[in-house]
Amino acid sequence: MINVTKTFLPPIEEYNELVKRAWDKAWITNNGELVQELEQKLKSYLGVKNLLFTGNGTIVLQMAIKALNITKEVITTPFSYVATTTAILWEGCTPVFTDINRDDFCIDPDRIEEKITENTEAILATHVFGLPCNVDKIKNLAEKYKLKIIYDGAHAFGSYSGGKPLLAYGDISTCSFHATKLFHTVEGGCIICNDDDLANKLMLYRQFGHIGDDYYSMGINGKNSEFHAAMGLCNLKYIDSILYRRKEQWNYYREELKNSQLTLVSIRNEGEFNYSYFPIVFSKETELLETMNRLKNAGINCRRYFYPSLNTLPYLKHQSCDISEYVAQRILCIPLFHDLTRVDQDRIVSLILDKG
Ligand SMILES: *Cc1c(COP(=O)(O)O)cnc(C)c1O
Repeated sequence: MINVTKTFLPPIEEYNELVKRAWDKAWITNNGELVQELEQKLKSYLGVKNLLFTGNGTIVLQMAIKALNITKEVITTPFSYVATTTAILWEGCTPVFTDINRDDFCIDPDRIEEKITENTEAILATHVFGLPCNVDKIKNLAEKYKLKIIYDGAHAFGSYSGGKPLLAYGDISTCSFHATKLFHTVEGGCIICNDDDLANKLMLYRQFGHIGDDYYSMGINGKNSEFHAAMGLCNLKYIDSILYRRKEQWNYYREELKNSQLTLVSIRNEGEFNYSYFPIVFSKETELLETMNRLKNAGINCRRYFYPSLNTLPYLKHQSCDISEYVAQRILCIPLFHDLTRVDQDRIVSLILDKG
């Protein structure tokens, strides 16, 4: 069976060797040596100033909203994983959906202004599939209306925009290191910011708001363990080859599918993209469902990323976003992972094109 993604696992000896360091000291969580080492290495690999390793890529969205004192309306994208919206709700704020661009699936900056009210405090946008949001336009709007910017960078590991790491943008950027993501620590994530005071605040949040017996603020459990950090340290050694392989596989799919009826993403700057997902957009949902079935019967599981459009979640008051709803009904992500073979790619392509 082939799934849309497959978790990269390093040689087990390399993992065991790292874990043994924590094991021998019997220090397996609470900001241990491997967590600190991973944070240092990630900061230099990603080119960012402050970075905290956390339990997952959802708690960091909540910590970001809390740390920036956001309590009212947040302008956000309807085309993302559900965590982007539920983090806003969980923090007691109101998501105000702004429709997306048809070509890169990111929030359409030209539609943001019309959604701004006196209650708007922040913009929370996702760099969908590692494609960058229009960070310059969003920054200009945020400055004009004094809004905070949070980027859900769960897909942005290894992507750049304008020569700068994508995760370095915004007041705060977050990332997920879940096992299904490009770079993973089994479960995990991180939160990134430039401002040192903000970083200190987030550090306290991550550990219940106290250092020893001194209690500074309200906090939560956002920590991650030495076992997870060990996985990250192992995987980081392979990330360049993973990214390189991805690019080859991605370009192969594009060559094979570019003359079909399917709509493919257009990358603005090839050198800055992490090739993390290969989405295809059908002209009708029925075609998507038929193709998905055909692939499934051949043992190939694709995923409807992202579906449904988040503005249509059953527990929300209705707001319409035509493009996002259109895309969500027709988009499919096809298998892309480090050891997917050319033979498998050929098989997937012919099933998609229905060439028996
Ligand atoms: C995976 C993902 C998340 C959630 O990350 P977890 O580590 O699973 O909590 C949030 N946003 C987006 C866009 C994602 O793809």
